Amino acid sequence: MDSHNGARPLILVSNDDGVNAPGIAALAEAMVRLGDVYVAAPLLEQSAVGHAITLRDPVRAFPVDANMGGAMRIYGVQGTPADCVKLAIRELLPREPDLVVSGINRGANTALNVIYSGTVSAATEAAILGVDAVAVSLCDWDARDYEASQEIAFTVAEKVLEKGLPPGILLNVNIPPLPLSAIKGMLVTRQARSRWKESFDQRVDPNNRPYYWMTGTFVNLDEGQNTDIAAVQSGHVSVTPIHYDLTAHDFLEPLSEWNWNR
Ligand code: MN
Repeated sequence: MDSHNGARPLILVSNDDGVNAPGIAALAEAMVRLGDVYVAAPLLEQSAVGHAITLRDPVRAFPVDANMGGAMRIYGVQGTPADCVKLAIRELLPREPDLVVSGINRGANTALNVIYSGTVSAATEAAILGVDAVAVSLCDWDARDYEASQEIAFTVAEKVLEKGLPPGILLNVNIPPLPLSAIKGMLVTRQARSRWKESFDQRVDPNNRPYYWMTGTFVNLDEGQNTDIAAVQSGHVSVTPIHYDLTAHDFLEPLSEWNWNR
């Protein structure tokens, strides 16, 4: 929970939709109002790669000639979102950033989607490296208008810079696809229980070998009113604190009663 000592904060912006996605330019523009912004994002879209890292290939970073509201430097990285954040924090930035913000993702990262999300993983990587982090998603797969999301991202980032987050905890923010005036407010939520009901469309390639396209339907299994999905559905911004310690703490004690050493 260190502060930035009154200096202009250093903010790293990343995403999983790629350095050319409109959402990252919108996010960088909003963050420039708060601090010095560096951008390091995948050269190509990396949605749903989760927390993958690149170990069998080199990771290259290419300077990108764009403005994004006055970002200091913009890099397109041949790698995953987690690679981008690792490389930026260890090599590309002049010092450790005060905040990492990932997004603005095109599409929701609520409920189970968190586990697949490259957007969230970029923020998670920052949390692992000890830097406060926020993932921001706009719940609209065809998102074009990022104006409201920019304001929300600004508000959340400003608050996190002011308050700081506990070690290992990051914020996952999901924004309803509404104009700012229609957004009802912000709710602190938990992840909804959900699943994907996958199916595979089998096709045949020109050499007569079968191949598959995965498709799926998202199923919300949670009637709770304090969930991320319920918040977005009711026109609120969902703010969920998450962490990467996957230990099932509630099951530690029952499991230890299994007489492991009998
Ligand atoms: Mn994405």
